[in-house]
Amino acid sequence: MTNDVDAAETFSDKPLAFTIPSRDARGRLVRLDSVLQEILSAHDYPAPIALLLAEALVIASLLGSLLKDDDAQVTMQAQTEAGTVRLLVCDYRAGELRGYVDFDRERLAELGANPSLFALFGKGFLAITFDGAGKQGRYQGIVPLEGETLGEACETYFVQSEQVPSLIKTAVRLDGDTCSAAGLLVQHLPEGEEGRERLHTRLDHPEWEHVMALATTLRHEELLDPELSLEAIVWRLFHEETEVRTIAGHSLVRGCRCSPEHYRDVLMKFPEEERAEMRDDEGIITVDCAFCSRKFPVAA
Ligand SMILES: [Zn+2]
Repeated sequence: MTNDVDAAETFSDKPLAFTIPSRDARGRLVRLDSVLQEILSAHDYPAPIALLLAEALVIASLLGSLLKDDDAQVTMQAQTEAGTVRLLVCDYRAGELRGYVDFDRERLAELGANPSLFALFGKGFLAITFDGAGKQGRYQGIVPLEGETLGEACETYFVQSEQVPSLIKTAVRLDGDTCSAAGLLVQHLPEGEEGRERLHTRLDHPEWEHVMALATTLRHEELLDPELSLEAIVWRLFHEETEVRTIAGHSLVRGCRCSPEHYRDVLMKFPEEERAEMRDDEGIITVDCAFCSRKFPVAA
């Protein structure tokens, strides 16, 4: 294994990227710690919603760690017409993560402790948007929210919208108030095809089947085990490969763009008649940031 990784690197809130050149495969591993606690602490989510958002944030970090440009952003949005969860949003930009879930508390309580993805969303859709900033442009793919986990729905996204065979494994756990979450993404990118649209997607390519067979042996407990470093996981899965390269990703932090200045700029783009309707008796417009559960009084 070759790497540029500091031996003391713990990979807490920092994705690890790896490539297996001989198999045309690349991967990402991430384990969320304090960034996850910080995001969840802004809300008072019941366990099933906290676990759902934790899984979504893991996937957003995995997808975000694929971005090459620091101005680029990836947004995941799961939406439904009549589900218990009305909306789940999370995004990633330059290592900054944020997310929230809008749901019906009463209906959730009726679903019990361990609701399935279908019980939470009903018939829903997952939209993934890559905002490439500059020459890469904006690309959005929408897939049905099907399967056992958000990770499975996201695999469908990669196959259908990007024609990239992908495996996503996520693990989430709640111990009292502490949520742990981690994930693995592995993709097959036949040589020279990265970034180019493919006419045919082969899910049965022997190199890919081999990588998948190894990657699927990773257990949830291993993903979440803080004693097992992300590098040790890569080693454990792929040590028989001729070459595996690893590289540490961007540190993850909780980040949001909300500020009175930001909202004033946004509000100033509205016509004055609309702003007049939004003002209260004191002439203040109150804007909610759903990501932070904070209200911003703006004089605009
Ligand atoms: Zn905010």
